[in-house]
Amino acid sequence: MYKLFNRFQPLFSSHILLYHATYRNIPINMEKGLHNVDPETLYKQIHWFKNYFDIVSVDTLFNTKSNKVGKLAVTFDDAYDSVFLEALPVLETLNVPCTIYLNGVTITEKPLWRDKIRYIINSDLVEDFLKFDEKFFNEKKIITSNFYTQTKSFECNSKEIDTVLDKYFQWKKISPERMRFTLRDASKLKSHPLISYGNHTYNHYVMSSLSKEEQEIEIIENEKLINQLNIKNSKVFSIPFGSASDFNKDTIELLKKYNYEAFLYSENKINLLPLNNKIKDRSFSLLSGERYMAKSSYNSFQKHLFKLDIKALMSKFMFKNSM
Ligand SMILES: [Zn+2]
Repeated sequence: MYKLFNRFQPLFSSHILLYHATYRNIPINMEKGLHNVDPETLYKQIHWFKNYFDIVSVDTLFNTKSNKVGKLAVTFDDAYDSVFLEALPVLETLNVPCTIYLNGVTITEKPLWRDKIRYIINSDLVEDFLKFDEKFFNEKKIITSNFYTQTKSFECNSKEIDTVLDKYFQWKKISPERMRFTLRDASKLKSHPLISYGNHTYNHYVMSSLSKEEQEIEIIENEKLINQLNIKNSKVFSIPFGSASDFNKDTIELLKKYNYEAFLYSENKINLLPLNNKIKDRSFSLLSGERYMAKSSYNSFQKHLFKLDIKALMSKFMFKNSM
């Protein structure tokens, strides 16, 4: 029943899909906490969307002056190497455009700091790591049971946590390369007719945990790197972690300063569009769109779509101005 209902979604909504890794076999020490959709499931999901939605790039979605309803954009955050090796052939087969959101640090220097966190969890090193700098973690209220979520809270400066992570791995003599799964060679970021590349900040830190100056560095350092690569780039910005508490007024001011046209949330929502066909701006005076993470099996993906729909329709009905 819900599968049939999902077919009507293009009549009243536009979707922005969020994927991360697309491994057939997830690397060791990454299993817990990594959002992964294998290439076969990715094919089935996008094939289904292609039957019912008009799939366009995320920039086209925001720039479409006329009807945005029924349009869908595909995005990949963090540039895992599997996206280039395993997802791209799927997109080529289906002839579907996508935007890949990059973090400069992973291309030029070292692993994504969240992959270091995942490595610690998957290797049962959480308690050992917390003991490594007890004073720091006590101050930040980071304990074993809240380790994954509290380390990405806006209350804890991500840059400081990343510094402790680097010191810990150095002390343990564990090579950071063991947790580097994102694309590490800029020459592989080729210009491709189906791909555009977007800014996801240099280090993927929680923007609202940083000072305005630190946020500015995160935006411009990454933009400089993308501009040097001579690849098609997006003017739509992807906020790391993507919930309302992960950025602030300073972030939006900076995005406007650097001429971004819109930004993306990742709050597991679809966009129900009002009659003027504008994606909501939440009074930030910069356009924004909601995204959702596709589930890792085809059936749970269809159920999830149905739930997102009900949630969106209910919130529109109950809080008329909320969407
Ligand atoms: Zn990300």
